[in-house]
Amino acid sequence: MSLLRVEGLRKSFGGVQAVQGVSFALAAGELLALIGPNGAGKSTCFNMLGGQIRPDAGRVLLAGQDITGLPPRVIWRLGVGRTFQIAQTCASFTVLQNLQLALLSHDRRGWRWWRRAGQHRVPDALALLEQVGMQDQADRPCSELAYGDVKRVELAMALAHAPRLLLMDEPTAGMASAERLALMRLVRRLARERAMAVLFTEHSMDVVFGQADRVAVLVRGQLLAQGTPEAMRQDERVQAAYLGG
Ligand code: ADP
Ligand code: MG
Repeated sequence: MSLLRVEGLRKSFGGVQAVQGVSFALAAGELLALIGPNGAGKSTCFNMLGGQIRPDAGRVLLAGQDITGLPPRVIWRLGVGRTFQIAQTCASFTVLQNLQLALLSHDRRGWRWWRRAGQHRVPDALALLEQVGMQDQADRPCSELAYGDVKRVELAMALAHAPRLLLMDEPTAGMASAERLALMRLVRRLARERAMAVLFTEHSMDVVFGQADRVAVLVRGQLLAQGTPEAMRQDERVQAAYLGG
């Protein structure tokens, strides 16, 4: 069974038909790149999966459970994590504290534990940092980090509640190309190790064709084609519509 199944998703904003009947599936441990020009509807799809936007029609199934239109917090609890185009960390807190916050936000005892949070789950936080290669920088404030390292911290924070599905909308925006490849290689390794499915958007074709297991091409709210990177690279419709050649 697919971990994620998306069936006929639709969303209009006034007269703009942003997403017009999008369907795809994603297995555990698999990386699917959703690509397409600006305005194609990629972020709208992500927001419908994460619960930020309610679809007009269609269904989202997570491990067979219908999560369509549930609130973001509920979808998150069911195992859908997210990173954002602009990394969401607390700049004045240390790397370790950011991880502790992420772990705390998953703790049902909630914020009244905040005063004691100084020692909250330090070994767990360090273990997550080790997974993204940031354990040596645990005590540095996030404000001092290189942008690529902030992205790693954000990734570790997303892993704090062990998502089954990770949504990454333009995870490498603002990064240099070597850094992009390194980040998505790391994501790919983590996806395999954790049997975590990853849906991501990305503009660098090197990253898309090098790291994704499958590629789905969205143009004007509709999926033009989906398949292996090799098949998509050779698909004439994809070349004409998107790859410009
Ligand atoms: P992408 O992420 O692929 O660049 P988006 O999903 O952001 O595309 O946008 C798809 C279309 O929907 C665009 O035409 C955009 O202008 C429109 N759109 C997106 N969000 C809104 C909104 N909140 N209100 C009105 N129009 C929107
Ligand atoms: Mg977008």
